[in-house]
Amino acid sequence: MAAQTFDMIVIGAGPGGYVAAIRGAQLGLKVACVEREHLGGICLNWGCIPTKALLRSAEVFHLMERAGEFGLKAENLGYDIDAVVKRSRGVAKQLSGGIGHLFKKNKVTTIMGEATLAGNGKVSVKTDKGTEELTAKNIVLATGARARQLPGLEGDGKRVWTYKDALQPPHMPKKLLVIGSGAIGIEFASFYNTLGAETTVVEVLDRVLPVEDAEISAFAKKSFQKQGMKILEKSMVKQLDRSADKVVAHIESGGKVEKHTFDTVISAVGIVGNVEGLGLESLGVKVDRTHVVTDEFCRTGVDGLYAIGDVAGAPWLAHKASHEGVMVAELIAGKHAHPVKPESIAGCTYCNPQVASVGLTEAKAKEAGHDVKVGRFPFIGNGKAIALGEAQGLIKTVFDAKTGELLGAHMVGAEVTELIQGYVIGQKLETTEQDLMETVFPHPTLSEMMHESVLDAFDRVIHI
Ligand SMILES: Cc1cc2nc3c(=O)[nH]c(=O)nc-3n(C[C@H](O)[C@H](O)[C@H](O)COP(=O)(O)OP(=O)(O)OC[C@H]3O[C@@H](n4cnc5c(N)ncnc54)[C@H](O)[C@@H]3O)c2cc1C
Repeated sequence: MAAQTFDMIVIGAGPGGYVAAIRGAQLGLKVACVEREHLGGICLNWGCIPTKALLRSAEVFHLMERAGEFGLKAENLGYDIDAVVKRSRGVAKQLSGGIGHLFKKNKVTTIMGEATLAGNGKVSVKTDKGTEELTAKNIVLATGARARQLPGLEGDGKRVWTYKDALQPPHMPKKLLVIGSGAIGIEFASFYNTLGAETTVVEVLDRVLPVEDAEISAFAKKSFQKQGMKILEKSMVKQLDRSADKVVAHIESGGKVEKHTFDTVISAVGIVGNVEGLGLESLGVKVDRTHVVTDEFCRTGVDGLYAIGDVAGAPWLAHKASHEGVMVAELIAGKHAHPVKPESIAGCTYCNPQVASVGLTEAKAKEAGHDVKVGRFPFIGNGKAIALGEAQGLIKTVFDAKTGELLGAHMVGAEVTELIQGYVIGQKLETTEQDLMETVFPHPTLSEMMHESVLDAFDRVIHI
């Protein structure tokens, strides 16, 4: 069969690939998207979306437990873990199906199969029916990533879980160990802890959520501990002894190794890029620690070959992948493309309390040589937060003292994953402290705390 020819072939239909494909088609390119497993990638099927569905169930459960505080009665509280998981899988399925409709609407050719680069703009796809040959001047690698498996801590689907197992648990953990306190580890810790699992989190670095501002990590840690979570920082899981109904973890803390018994372990120690089996070596594509090396326009150095999203490295976030997808499609279509600035990509963690940030932490801003002004505003000073029964939280802003540039914003508390976008827009528009102070924030809203945090940095705060 003759090779089908396209203007652009996208490999992988995650938030990087499917967005690149749709944007390319919108710009008049003839686009094919090859996907080996599921439209929507990890994000829609096994990442962002199903975790948020689970966490929503935990949030509602937590609120029901607090019903008395709101003058309400909720008795005989309980949950059905299978039904909670069923809802989460249903949400993922609905969204994954939606990508198929978007592809049809935008006339993107979907090819279900495993793609390999065959050189000179050729892509070979192994499908159920055999091998299909495709060609295009431009190929976009958007093959994503998978869970990192550390020797001895590998998931087994029974007692030691990766994120995929934790999203469709074979049992409800009673005593849970979470290895790693990045966003994925902490979200699962929060979910299972809220549903009653006795949860321990082990973090090798000196604090939980180690990429966040130190003050925010400390605040979040206290909240987790108040909810009964045990947090071990500067600690390392050295070994897991597995048996049918339990796992004995050897945990090194302060130079001593102690054994602790759990019935379930979630290993959340990072991710590795899907770079194998693509034919990258024969094309001379540079790979650094499982990630394709690219320039700021996602070019790999091989003519017409781009890499976007998780396979192209940190930050491993869906919105970074999608933004790169749009940029690459525009570049291919001959439009003016804007590189994505890593410091403008917000990170959100949907634990209880939520955590969100953008830009430099206070420490990083100082390290970069900025003279800083820092503002802080606690949730307890905000009317809406108190009315919602969510008075625990903090909003911190970091400015350059000389120029008034907003260098970073860091938040912990209810709904901060929605609030952060205000600062993201501010940063994109290169706003100064003056603009932010002159902006009128609606009352009563949680967003007023964003205003107050800025006012605090310049000694003008009203409500504390
Ligand atoms: C539990 C969890 C929770 C997360 N929560 C969030 C969150 O709240 N917010 C956020 O921003 N990010 C979150 N992430 C990260 C987010 O899922 C990823 O950053 C995002 O999915 C990356 O998109 P991508 O398009 O680069 O790759 P992926 O989504 O991984 O998609 C890559 C696709 O390529 C396909 N593929 C791979 N190789 C081939 C091949 N050879 N041929 C054909 N197809 C191939 C794969 O099947 C896959 O569908 C989470 C991740 C996890 C695991």
